[in-house]
Amino acid sequence: MSINCYAAKNQSETLTPYSYDPSALGGWDIEVAITHCGICHSDLHLIDNDWGVSSYPLIPGHEIIGTVTAKGEHVEDFAVGERVGIGWQRSSCQQCEWCHKGEENLCAKQEATCVGHAGGFAEKIRADSRFAFSIPEDLPSEQAAPLLCGGATVYSPLATRGVKPTDRVGIVGIGGLGHLAVQFAHAFGCEVTAFSHSPDKEVEAKKLGADHFISSTDKAALEKAAGSLDFILVTISAPLDWEVYLDLLRPYGMLCFVGAQEKPICSSFMKLLEGRKAICASNIASCPDMKDMLRFAAQHGIKAQIELFPMSRVNDAIDKLRAGKIRYRAVLYTGE
Ligand code: NAP
Ligand code: ZN
Repeated sequence: MSINCYAAKNQSETLTPYSYDPSALGGWDIEVAITHCGICHSDLHLIDNDWGVSSYPLIPGHEIIGTVTAKGEHVEDFAVGERVGIGWQRSSCQQCEWCHKGEENLCAKQEATCVGHAGGFAEKIRADSRFAFSIPEDLPSEQAAPLLCGGATVYSPLATRGVKPTDRVGIVGIGGLGHLAVQFAHAFGCEVTAFSHSPDKEVEAKKLGADHFISSTDKAALEKAAGSLDFILVTISAPLDWEVYLDLLRPYGMLCFVGAQEKPICSSFMKLLEGRKAICASNIASCPDMKDMLRFAAQHGIKAQIELFPMSRVNDAIDKLRAGKIRYRAVLYTGE
């Protein structure tokens, strides 16, 4: 059997049709007929080999929704025909302290769905069922797909870093991750400030649940808001003046990065010391957090705002994402 997909044959190249023979279905594996796949900015980082981990041909895609078409002998959690989602993580050792604690995203041997393996810009995928998730009925597939990476990545730090309903939370960057973060923080009960370098996003950010909107590059506006926030989640990879953002925090405040930053964040120790402030980062979500996130999203009506593209137009979607023009997540669909 071979699987049809779209792949970048070399660094930064346009994707072209490709096919590959999958490995035999293992005992814990499921085969999934893909219906939808979101395009995360990490897919672009991988196509461009920004992190030096890409190998080509590279088949991106790690916000996958589809239907189980076959399963290995150990798989009891899923039935053939069931709708499932697959995110960034494809495996872990299942034996280390972190795997035993249900924090597989911290396992030193974890592997990613589309790093060295074929991802979801494809008609099918074979994946470890222990890293696949049931999708609550209330979540339509096209709006659920971006939750599998983007949603999980922003939900997890809000849920695990002690954010309280009384907290004042800033979300920096209202893109794929950020527009979901605004919805989650609002549903957590927090007072939410959206920081964006796109003034035309103000109305929509407020509709998504932001109480306030500040230009992420307006120095005067940022200075005026100094000392007003308890937790800031940075969802962008662009380098801003993060010391100004540290000043936005109240004592004990936390500046948490999920956007892939390449440059040093802060050179002033005193900015941390004086207010007992913290800088941290967060990667994807554990499997238990992923399940909680999906249930919470269904309960609170959290849905990605999407632009749909047939898989054959994957390059149009990628070009639009590169240009910063997607509102707010591009999602590919199969079966056109
Ligand atoms: P995205 O949809 O492209 O959104 C990024 C946002 O960054 C844009 O919408 C824009 O928001 C802001 N931005 C872009 N250029 C900017 C500039 N020059 N100055 C200031 N802001 C700028 O990307 P995404 O899919 O949300 O991913 C965001 C980052 O998270 C990527 O680096 C991705 O690799 C990373 N990521 C990390 C994890 C993890 O596990 N930690 C998981 C998934 C993704 P505004 O228009 O509102 O300013
Ligand atoms: Zn992602």
